[in-house]
Amino acid sequence: MKPLGPIPDFYEAKGDELAIGGRSASALVTEAGSTPLFVYSRDAIATRMDELRAAMPDRLRIHYAMKANPYADLLEFIADLVDGLDIASGGELQQAREAGFLPREISFAGPGKRDAELLAAIRAGVTLNIESEGEAERALDTARTLGVTPRLAIRVNPSFELRGSGMKMGGGAKPFGVDEDRVPALARHLVDAGVNWRGFHIYSGSQALDSTAIIEAQANVIALAARLGKEAGVAVPHLNMGGGFGIPYFDKDAPLDIAAIGEALKAQFANLPGNLNDTEFAVELGRYLVGEAGVYLTRIVDRKESHGITFLVTDGGLHHQLAASGNFGTVVRRNYPVAIASKFTEPPTETVNVVGCLCTPLDRLADLAQLPAAEIGDLVAVFCAGAYGASASPATFLGQGPARELLV
Ligand SMILES: *Cc1c(COP(=O)(O)O)cnc(C)c1O
Repeated sequence: MKPLGPIPDFYEAKGDELAIGGRSASALVTEAGSTPLFVYSRDAIATRMDELRAAMPDRLRIHYAMKANPYADLLEFIADLVDGLDIASGGELQQAREAGFLPREISFAGPGKRDAELLAAIRAGVTLNIESEGEAERALDTARTLGVTPRLAIRVNPSFELRGSGMKMGGGAKPFGVDEDRVPALARHLVDAGVNWRGFHIYSGSQALDSTAIIEAQANVIALAARLGKEAGVAVPHLNMGGGFGIPYFDKDAPLDIAAIGEALKAQFANLPGNLNDTEFAVELGRYLVGEAGVYLTRIVDRKESHGITFLVTDGGLHHQLAASGNFGTVVRRNYPVAIASKFTEPPTETVNVVGCLCTPLDRLADLAQLPAAEIGDLVAVFCAGAYGASASPATFLGQGPARELLV
């Protein structure tokens, strides 16, 4: 037997079934038309935002990192809850505009921005987080051609990284951002070129569950921004401090202590380096805002035995939930939280492997999981499916096609 990850505690039962937003899993599948299906809960997202706002200093702006989940209805919903949006492509820019985000609320980071993306972003008036000296020149040229003043910030590749981070995105040689020591010269150059200078973006990692590591990274980010501003002799109007707030996916993962992070940040803000007194501070969060608010529902189509192991074969799989299969940035595969949604209140009685319908051994949803006895037709729920699910999985692999999505 292998343990399952923790089911977020706001999920309840309706009758015997898992309920999301007060509706049973089977009713949601009926409404959507069929499985596989992602269901995202408005209540869960709004509650998460309320708790976060209560814990953080008022001065801190909370941005949504759109790549976690770009589903249009969700994006429209979250637009009213957050203070800004972080995007990473021209495609996301278009979706963000359609969802109602205003250009001045949007910042665009990411390596390899094409000329057409720079043009669209500068024309719209969104902030570009510049990732290299070369990109800076292309942005300046584009703005000159358009005859507009671009809103530019510099993404810094910091020399430190977020400890315990699930995915390392700072420290050492990276395709992201400009190395710390070259930032002052570039900042000076951009300010001299007359751009609308927006400050720095310093992102040091993702999926941390240790509040001490986040507190330490935030202190490092603030100190670095102050030092870079001073060295360049430029103001720091805005500081995107990154995010990295993680969620519990696996057994023994404990939720992040946001109260501790909020308290530490209040202390930091009360004692800022002088050149950051007027700075606007933001964090950019993806999975923390939406990850636990989503459930992936898939139906059992076969039940079979092989060498003493029972397999529940579902109509879903890694083509929608690559992360749960263990093939999205993990070294050792561990089980996400999984349940039999149609028998949510029943106690576990057997040990089974839950797999997807793809013809590859990579397509696993739960290994040696303790679950109630399930039959063909029962619904399986994979939790923590609200981030890096539908849009971060190879939906066309083996001709399967996308899952349905529903915001309730
Ligand atoms: C992916 C990404 C995020 C969001 O990460 P989460 O772990 O989902 O919070 C934030 N900022 C940047 C720059 C990113 O690349």
